Amino acid sequence: MYDVVVVGGGPAGLSAAGWLGRYRRRVVVVDGGEQRNRWADKSHGYLTHDDADPKELLGAAQGQVDAYRTVEFRKDSATTARREDDGTFVIETNSGSLRAKRVLLATGVVDEFPEVEGFFEHYGASVFHCPTCDGYEAEGCEVVAFGWSSEVTGFALGLLEWAARVTVVTDGSRFEGDQVCRDALDRHCVEVLEDEAVALTGTRGNLREVRLRGGGVLACQLVFFSIAHHPRNELAVQLGCRLTGEGCIEVDHEGLTSVAGVYSAGDVTPGMQLVQVAAAKGTVAGVTCALSLRGERPAPGAPPPGVDVEAELS
Ligand SMILES: Cc1cc2nc3c(=O)[nH]c(=O)nc-3n(C[C@H](O)[C@H](O)[C@H](O)COP(=O)(O)OP(=O)(O)OC[C@H]3O[C@@H](n4cnc5c(N)ncnc54)[C@H](O)[C@@H]3O)c2cc1C
Repeated sequence: MYDVVVVGGGPAGLSAAGWLGRYRRRVVVVDGGEQRNRWADKSHGYLTHDDADPKELLGAAQGQVDAYRTVEFRKDSATTARREDDGTFVIETNSGSLRAKRVLLATGVVDEFPEVEGFFEHYGASVFHCPTCDGYEAEGCEVVAFGWSSEVTGFALGLLEWAARVTVVTDGSRFEGDQVCRDALDRHCVEVLEDEAVALTGTRGNLREVRLRGGGVLACQLVFFSIAHHPRNELAVQLGCRLTGEGCIEVDHEGLTSVAGVYSAGDVTPGMQLVQVAAAKGTVAGVTCALSLRGERPAPGAPPPGVDVEAELS
């Protein structure tokens, strides 16, 4: 029996586990190692660690969390989750069952990628999905934006914050934006090509061009794509947690889901999707989860929790 099973060892899950460790709760972090930014060469904007290598950031975070004696880390995948009649939770993993009094879901999202030759050679170095994360690097550049829905209008215009020029390529689909969208793009000289990108050329960190099915070639230094991402919400669904219309796990301002004893943090919850935000949400959910265990019998191997302050004072 653990106090808490944390599913997901990205910035949100590790941050939560670290704070649970500081409260001496017995915690296991189960992580499949598919952090969303694992493709990226640099992670921007984390205070004191701007431009850090995401793998180094993650390694340092794992080391920091590992140092807490009541926290353990397992490279594994959680496959199902259920709540027992006694209010505890059972998480099935590829290597067996875990039982805990609380569950904290920090499972992130899965991105959809365009099918373009050479995509993964450049993804995370010159190809990105998030202008907030990587737009600064587009300063003065020729940028191609992949997308066909009306949302690509705002996406492309937003990139003009930094880029010298933006061209939209629709993957061969018809551009779904209405005349208002077309006029706005025209006003800012953003061309829309209803053609399919078939290949990216150049070497990693030195993207040269996008080749189109119709034979055209667009010189560019960066590509941004606006397709879709899907919250990894399967365990939350099994536990009966309420989701938002986009499939994110609904949480209150302390990271508690609609199911008592189940917490959630990071990209899988609504809001901005950034490392620092995920870590901060993990902190909130982790501390709240730790406090919720006050007054309960500790998991074997964990020191006794402190006084249930609220119960004492009520
Ligand atoms: C290309 C790219 C560049 C980015 N650049 C930046 C940047 O410069 N600055 C910035 O602030 N943000 C950046 N981001 C966003 C950042 O990566 C995310 O906001 C952040 O990783 C979210 O953290 P998280 O802990 O919520 O999820 P993640 O980091 O995605 O971690 C989720 C973890 O949960 C695990 N998991 C999921 N389901 C299970 C399961 N059932 N069992 C076990 N483990 C499971 C996954 O394997 C994964 O390890 C970038 C993202 C991408 C894709």
